[in-house]
Amino acid sequence: MKNHIKTIAFDADDTLWVNEPYFQEAEKQFCQLLENYLPQHSVSQELYRTEMKNLHLYGYGVKGFVLCMIETASRISNRTVSLELIDRIIAIGQELLQKPIELLPGVPETLEQLKGKYRLIVATKGDLLDQERKLKNSGLESYFYHIEIMSDKKVSDYQKLLEHLDCKPENFLMLGNSIKSDILPVLELGGYGGHIPYHVTWTHEQHEHNLKHDSFIELNSIDSILNYL
Ligand SMILES: [Mg+2]
Repeated sequence: MKNHIKTIAFDADDTLWVNEPYFQEAEKQFCQLLENYLPQHSVSQELYRTEMKNLHLYGYGVKGFVLCMIETASRISNRTVSLELIDRIIAIGQELLQKPIELLPGVPETLEQLKGKYRLIVATKGDLLDQERKLKNSGLESYFYHIEIMSDKKVSDYQKLLEHLDCKPENFLMLGNSIKSDILPVLELGGYGGHIPYHVTWTHEQHEHNLKHDSFIELNSIDSILNYL
């Protein structure tokens, strides 16, 4: 891999900064709000069901999450939920959109090491404005040559990104916390993937199998990529 890599793309949420714990905290608040209708774990299951049903319409991000919470509240309360409760759901979402950026350990140091040697990219899903805000507040913007906020991370989405960057798959390394979205599609295209696990993963992104592939590396932390380059 050493001599091939020219472009390194980073996933953002739970790779550069904390994200999923904020979503889980928001979901917990939502489940508490609705516990008069259903036990909290059932509210959580209902919310996930709504999210999966709407994913193809809303994509990823906080705004779709809020709409899914409202739809779930309406359904499980049999359309009796109060407007006050809807207001509280909206507030949960607005709070999520204003969370401080907490960088993960080793992130600025690693980018500093790679800067100038590789073309560094961010490739993330999520709401456009929210991801732009997070990037701006992260203080990391200046490390990146290009920021790609993607509606999905399927093979075809990465193919478009590589074409846009005029980058061959064999010169491309993607680093991220989701095997499913950050690694598998890139390997399928002939690129390299480095998995940096994070302690919590959204159910939709979970991947159970042990991955073995010549172009795949399992990392303990973001800075361990420096040992492979
Ligand atoms: Mg991620």
